Amino acid sequence: MERVYNFSAGPSMLPVEVLEQAQKDMLNYGGSGMSVMEMSHRSKWFDDIIKSAEADLRELMNVPDNYKVMFLQGGGSTQFAMIPLNLMTGGKCDLVNTGQWSKKAMAEAKKFGTVNVVASSEDKVFNYIPALDKASFSPDADYFYICYNNTIYGTRYTQLPDTGNVPLVADMSSMIMSEEVDVSKFGLIFAGAQKNIGPAGVTVVIMREDLIGNAKEDCPTMLNYKTHADAGSLYNTPPCYSVYIAGLVFKWLKEKGGVAAMQKINEEKAAILYDFLDNSMMFRGTVVPKDRSLMNVPFVTDDDDLNAKFIKEATNAGFVNLKGHRTVGGMRASIYNAMPVEGVQKLVEFMKKFETDNK
Ligand SMILES: *Cc1c(COP(=O)(O)O)cnc(C)c1O
Repeated sequence: MERVYNFSAGPSMLPVEVLEQAQKDMLNYGGSGMSVMEMSHRSKWFDDIIKSAEADLRELMNVPDNYKVMFLQGGGSTQFAMIPLNLMTGGKCDLVNTGQWSKKAMAEAKKFGTVNVVASSEDKVFNYIPALDKASFSPDADYFYICYNNTIYGTRYTQLPDTGNVPLVADMSSMIMSEEVDVSKFGLIFAGAQKNIGPAGVTVVIMREDLIGNAKEDCPTMLNYKTHADAGSLYNTPPCYSVYIAGLVFKWLKEKGGVAAMQKINEEKAAILYDFLDNSMMFRGTVVPKDRSLMNVPFVTDDDDLNAKFIKEATNAGFVNLKGHRTVGGMRASIYNAMPVEGVQKLVEFMKKFETDNK
């Protein structure tokens, strides 16, 4: 079986061990005589799957007891609307604009109230995380919104804004469980699964309990967090198979030593790639060093034709999905939890050889 090194930004690679377990379970899950895709979401097997997934997630992220964990649908993009629908009770939020994903969140929030953009990195094609001045924060904001790791531009927060009593809301779609975070610092965390924790179809929401139940009367039932929090994510049919695979990924992560151990590996992988980029005469990273993502590494040469040649030859050599986002160009290597160190080492070897051959 020939598998490639898949550097896709999402949906992205899953651990082989997880795929093998899913293969074993495919026709007959746990003696049920059926696959997870075929069973009732009210069955005892699925009840165990979703409860174990939640328990493992809580353990991995050290989620405090006063937070609810929800497995929802609609992707990260539905959260852009659900957040203002549920949290914008006073009609105002603060937001840091670090690129497309925060812009989309801003566009939805504007439908429900005022968005105060406290800082933006748009002046330099979002290649850094802007410094934040507390004087520009709104003390009466309903929440303060950030995109923790920008998948497209490859930026990452290393220091959280001090928002005082204003709940901090973070889009962690492309970094959840890749490094340790203190959940208690946030009012709400969300992440579409398809980057770091499973297949597309499920979105994880971790929400402080006192923020639940404040949506207006006319909030659609399915878009009200209270609906899902009260029903243990079983108000309607959840994305059963995606929850099951995410659960397997959580077990895999626990076996690897948890998030702290994974963070070490991720730092090692990122260092291998960034060190090479910093020393290369042909390739360079596009993000300022202090704000570089551990997960998404955009890089370029100074020549579009050379970029295209590189992507083509890399693909032929089994390093796939290295093309940069259409709004940025160049290349991007997404090196999520499931990417082994060896994948990054081999990529760097390939880049070195390409550089020598194309001098
Ligand atoms: C991929 C992504 C999204 C959008 O997720 P969908 O599930 O496609 O709606 C939102 N935010 C970030 C940071 C992402 O990487």
